[in-house]
Amino acid sequence: MISPVLPTYARAPLSFVKGDGPWLETEDGTRYLDMGAGIAVNSLGHAHPALVAALEGQARRLWHTSNLYDIPNQRALAERLVEHTFADTVFFTNSGTESTEAAVKMVRKYFDNAGQPERNRIITFEGSFHGRTLAMISAAGAEKLTKGFGPLPDGFDHVPFGNMAALEAAITPQTAAIMLEPVQGEGGIRAFSEADLKAIRALCDEHGLLLVLDEIQTGVGRTGKLFAHEWAGITPDIMAIAKGIGGGFPLGACLATERAAAGMTAGSHGTTFGGNPLACAVGCAVMDVVTGEGFLDDVTRVAGHLRQGLEGLVASHPDVFESVRGEGLMVGLKCKAANTDVINAGYDAHVLTVPAGDNVIRLLPPLNITTGEIDEALARLETAARAVEETL
Ligand SMILES: *Cc1c(COP(=O)(O)O)cnc(C)c1O
Repeated sequence: MISPVLPTYARAPLSFVKGDGPWLETEDGTRYLDMGAGIAVNSLGHAHPALVAALEGQARRLWHTSNLYDIPNQRALAERLVEHTFADTVFFTNSGTESTEAAVKMVRKYFDNAGQPERNRIITFEGSFHGRTLAMISAAGAEKLTKGFGPLPDGFDHVPFGNMAALEAAITPQTAAIMLEPVQGEGGIRAFSEADLKAIRALCDEHGLLLVLDEIQTGVGRTGKLFAHEWAGITPDIMAIAKGIGGGFPLGACLATERAAAGMTAGSHGTTFGGNPLACAVGCAVMDVVTGEGFLDDVTRVAGHLRQGLEGLVASHPDVFESVRGEGLMVGLKCKAANTDVINAGYDAHVLTVPAGDNVIRLLPPLNITTGEIDEALARLETAARAVEETL
């Protein structure tokens, strides 16, 4: 008999009832170190006091009005995002996939508005992940996402990851944009090189294309910059964010330059819940912490400590692990053993990690994790690695 919850997830036999910083606790009081942070969602850990206060304070005043009215928290969060990024304007959503959808709609509208409606195709990369709506599974293109769900929306051309010649060859008079994650998350923590990001920006400029970045996983401090593209010294025209910006409360956004957003006039797009007072209160609190003095420097410092520890772990367990990759606190451990075996052994050692493509396990801890907590995580991963070794 089907479970009351639609069984679209192969869930681990684990359930948590409370959290505190990077720790999660089960009903019987067992504590797990959360190195997945809800897949890069709990950017400041669980039950961060400033986020709890922001949500509680707003919950007592007002939950929902409608986007028919000005929403002060939404305006405040938009102003913060505009102040700290390339963007001039922001559309708020409740999730990642709504943010990439908004980005794609904006691209098409831009060229329609410019009198070039035939330019409506977007180039994407193999191994990418942009969400689960029909258009976004079509955008990513992998069979594991699309199988059985056709007919799919058209308008996406897929090129191999990291193949600049193929990318250039895929540009046609119908091409409107290139969309990519600076570091592929679900795809296995695969980063575009800074040189390739620069070259892609240059290609966009040369051909009049819009550059759309999906920073849903890489954004909001995850890589040690507020947004990952800053490492390459480039800016996009449109950027989708979600996950970390809400710190665990559902919140996403599509950021754009004034030029790219030109076609998005009143009535062209909308949302009931996007940008609601509760989500934006939390979003403002997250932004205030992450853009605070020295916060991102600390992310980089702690990330260096993690990286060093993981290099040691890989070196001492060459039959379990192959290499470490990623940027900042978005780290992948490429496995030699099955990644799911390593993750399950982690559960036994009370440390949570997340699977990714290419036989990788992902470590995406809260950005405010301490070096002491990192050491504890490394010790538990060491236990997990030894357990896996015994089964090989
Ligand atoms: C998680 C993720 C999405 C989808 O976000 P949802 O909130 O699950 O819709 C899209 N793109 C990237 C890069 C992601 O990591």
